[in-house]
Amino acid sequence: MAEIAPDPPGWLTALRFDIDTEGGGAAWIEAELPAPNLVIVNPRNGHAHLVYLLGAWVQTDCSDPRRLKVVRYAAAIERAYNAALGADPAYTGRFHHNPLSDAYVTKIGRDAPYSLDELARYVDLYEPALKKNPPIGIGRNVETFVAALIDGKTLRGIEAIGKHLLYDFGLDRFLHVHLGRFGNFEDGPMPLPEPRGVLRFRLYTATHWFELRGAIAIEMFDASMRQLLETRIGPSPLDEAADPLLAYGKIVTSRAPIGMLLMDQSVVAGIGNIYRSEILFLHRLHPRTPGSALTKQTWRALWKDLGTLMRDATLSGRIVTTAARDREKPSGAVRRSDRFYVYRRDGLPCRWCGTPVVTGTLGNRNVFWCSRDQVETNSAL
Ligand SMILES: [Zn+2]
Repeated sequence: MAEIAPDPPGWLTALRFDIDTEGGGAAWIEAELPAPNLVIVNPRNGHAHLVYLLGAWVQTDCSDPRRLKVVRYAAAIERAYNAALGADPAYTGRFHHNPLSDAYVTKIGRDAPYSLDELARYVDLYEPALKKNPPIGIGRNVETFVAALIDGKTLRGIEAIGKHLLYDFGLDRFLHVHLGRFGNFEDGPMPLPEPRGVLRFRLYTATHWFELRGAIAIEMFDASMRQLLETRIGPSPLDEAADPLLAYGKIVTSRAPIGMLLMDQSVVAGIGNIYRSEILFLHRLHPRTPGSALTKQTWRALWKDLGTLMRDATLSGRIVTTAARDREKPSGAVRRSDRFYVYRRDGLPCRWCGTPVVTGTLGNRNVFWCSRDQVETNSAL
């Protein structure tokens, strides 16, 4: 048996998505969604089922209006994920490939189940979130061993290296925090509020508390780990004080494609797959152009635009790279389909020249470009 129906009657225990395209197991990366708990790949065609386990099961018996709200919330999340993943909307989610079957390859993405609130944070829901009646039983994840190490110590300073934050508690002990895209701090006066959401960490004194939610990493580093981090992370375009020439020095001495170098965190920090495709298009660079072919002037211009785009996204909470004049609907709110020039627009006409956008794989991730605006020249590879 290769399909199983894991939900007990009347309960929803997971959100499941069916990706009927080759490389479907990586669809969540492209869509900038969190890691599924299970990625079940059919090795014959590369299609995949992605499974997000729910920490608090959703009761699908809708006779109680309060339950109905939670069911609708789950359904709105499911719809948004379906759209973001390009998943098969006809898939009912009732069955999924049996992860124990030999016919499929299963990867475990994350052990801890998700709360609906955590899943919702990655998408724009078309229905308002249930602020007043959050789903019950939200997962809690506070690492008490970290707390024991720094309890009673004085915080001496905070340092940022790329997207990594280091809290110096003395004695060569640093609390390392990586916020990811959704990490967020809150603070307030005592008493402590009830734990809620993806609470990763809290500090408190007699008078104030400070909480961290949604971060992707929180752990103790010693001085050697800190040093490793410093040598491994390149400058970030988000950091206005960062020196772009630190990155340029690594780029111009490399024959690797610029499309690879941009994603290498030791060269430049914080560039994801969307920015890679978009910034190369904006500067008419083919992704396979060797780093050594980039002039300092080109790199400075690219760096400046990356900083602008990334800061805009930080402020607005969504990535939009298109200029208003290049959108199908130039005025008003930016439609989802108008956000990018080439990213995931393969087959669609280039916004500048009308040539169909093409896609290929570079560094195990899809990259998108216009074959007319981004001509492959200087490629010595
Ligand atoms: Zn074009």
